[in-house]
Amino acid sequence: MSKFWSPIVHQLTPYVPGEQPKINNLIKLNTNENPYGPSPKALTAMEIETGNSLRLYPDPTSTRLVRAVAQYYQLKPKQVFVGNGSDEVLAHTFQALFQHDKPLLFPDITYSFYPVYCKLYGIQAETVPLNSSFEIELGGYLRANGGIIFPNPNAPTGHGTRLDAIEALLRKNPDTVVVVDEAYIDFGGESAVALINQYPNLLVIQTFSKSRSLAGLRVGFAMGDEALIEGLVRVKDSFNSYPLDSIAISGACASIQDKSHFEYTRQRIIASREQLATQLKALGFNIIPSQANFLFVTHPQHDAAKLAGHLRIRNIIVRYFNKPRIDQHLRITIGTDDECKTLVSALTEIIKN
Ligand SMILES: *Cc1c(COP(=O)(O)O)cnc(C)c1O
Repeated sequence: MSKFWSPIVHQLTPYVPGEQPKINNLIKLNTNENPYGPSPKALTAMEIETGNSLRLYPDPTSTRLVRAVAQYYQLKPKQVFVGNGSDEVLAHTFQALFQHDKPLLFPDITYSFYPVYCKLYGIQAETVPLNSSFEIELGGYLRANGGIIFPNPNAPTGHGTRLDAIEALLRKNPDTVVVVDEAYIDFGGESAVALINQYPNLLVIQTFSKSRSLAGLRVGFAMGDEALIEGLVRVKDSFNSYPLDSIAISGACASIQDKSHFEYTRQRIIASREQLATQLKALGFNIIPSQANFLFVTHPQHDAAKLAGHLRIRNIIVRYFNKPRIDQHLRITIGTDDECKTLVSALTEIIKN
């Protein structure tokens, strides 16, 4: 607390990211990072970029990357917005498209940055409970709102929402923006990108952090009707003209153009996820069917916080949320097959004792 803080700073409840401990030989399954590393072509493109040209400002509109994303998804460049991580794209979305006199609707169990942005931008929030199977029921969102946001697949549950349900919501909610946060879509969900040309109230947000293994580079993007993108550009140009540096623009362009590395690594993660799910079920865990690069699990006989503690002693970290409804669950990122194997042996030992 300080007398120098503005009133808004006193009221903020900042987001708490998963830890990034500096411990050797750690099996880090707590922040949904990709174990396989970025496309080698992206790494080469970035090395080439680290030269004397860094004395120049980057392209303020990141045109190359906007075009590459538009081409990948067969959209017009004016339907694409890029930012410094999808967290920044989300922040601009809250300010540009959700600041209205009615509440923003999102699930009670979801990405915990949403309520943080609501406080930062003075947006009323109203949560809609997941059903008892921890699924989003979009019927619950048909009420007065200043916008709707949910991840698909949802985090931290991994559960996917069907595209026909999303389309029905877009049709029945034509007057406010529906944002689908597709941070994990490449691990098995159905992208809403296909609906963009039909629904001017749809914004889809994606990131290079998970399926493209570039969390450290900070690149995210939004896709939607030109008017929505123009709103985001207006906020961006009132905040930071150069959100993406030259290295990030080059790396992200090369990454999205490297389809074979992307396909190979995401298929490996999907295969490891299914194998890990089977093994954890055999240990007695209940598992929500996941379309993401993580599993959300609970054990009927073992306290989740204690399990996380025992894993930590064995140098394995997973994510535990001490929050209502989910304080008996663990979110476990899919690592390499070796990491999954070590995890399963550790849990087998812990559960037997
Ligand atoms: C990881 C994640 C993000 C943030 O991704 P960045 O692009 O790294 O900022 C956004 N939404 C959800 C649901 C996520 O899990």
